Amino acid sequence: MIKKVGIVGAGQMGNGIAHAFALHDYSVVLYDIAQTQLNKALKIIEENLKRQAKKNVIEESRIESTLKNIKPTTNLNDVSDVDFCIEASPENEALKLELFAKLDSIVKEGSIIASNTSSISITKLAFQTKRPDKVIGMHFMNPVPVMELVEVIRGITTSEETYSTILELAKSLGKNPALSKDYPGFIVNRILIPMINEAIYAYYEGIASIEDIDKAMKLGTNQPMGPLVLADFIGLDTCLAVQNVLYEGFKDSKYRPCPLLVKMVEAGYLGRKSGRGFYDYTKK
Ligand code: NAD
Repeated sequence: MIKKVGIVGAGQMGNGIAHAFALHDYSVVLYDIAQTQLNKALKIIEENLKRQAKKNVIEESRIESTLKNIKPTTNLNDVSDVDFCIEASPENEALKLELFAKLDSIVKEGSIIASNTSSISITKLAFQTKRPDKVIGMHFMNPVPVMELVEVIRGITTSEETYSTILELAKSLGKNPALSKDYPGFIVNRILIPMINEAIYAYYEGIASIEDIDKAMKLGTNQPMGPLVLADFIGLDTCLAVQNVLYEGFKDSKYRPCPLLVKMVEAGYLGRKSGRGFYDYTKK
């Protein structure tokens, strides 16, 4: 029975995942290497809960009780007694491989360890542990509190029991799971990120302005936002990391990342989270 949950990484996704679990009465340990990120995460969670209360999605009283369910920490050992642990650190394979080995030695035996990775091999992460049957991908969508989908990714070694436990866990959060096999990018990012990369190419090659690319895709294909504003929302570093996983995983030149995307990440233009990407977020 999963009651206590560990979340490793308190960035955009980590804070959303903490919000979802805490709101559904799970006891949450939220870990990050940076105290500043934890402070920021708690502030964002509070703001988002208030927004939900204002829209009558939740009752006002749930704000305080939800926040009470979250224990922030910079000590990774605090996840030792969780019944389920999910990793939401940056999309960097070397970092995640190291973290999985570490988490395996810390998190109590028998608990499932999941990754929120957008594209990295679950099977490879599982191989870092002595519990490869208990490692799985649980890929939440951004923003977590509002997006219904959770992609569940079964590595080659993931057991049937782990898979069914995670399906139930996703449903207990009010989410709707879709199953993917463990190949680069899974379902959503295999399709979404190359589209974003192509939109960046269209701008890079001077086909159209940023605004017109977004307008064309939003109004022409009935998407809630255009691909460049979406790239800023996801984070350009994450988009580049996923594109590189596709490029290296399939060894197919059609997945090469646009040089402009690479340049923007080198410049620290990461989108919304850094204040600048294809659009400027410092003015508002
Ligand atoms: P982010 O950059 O907003 O947050 C990453 C957090 O991890 C930061 O708070 C950072 O301080 C922390 N961190 C760095 N090193 C760490 C370590 N060793 N241990 C623990 N925490 C560490 O990134 P994000 O957008 O939240 O993405 C996190 C994961 O979720 C990635 O794997 C990404 O691919 C995936 N994801 C992202 C999105 C999206 O739209 N951004 C959607 C779905 C999945």
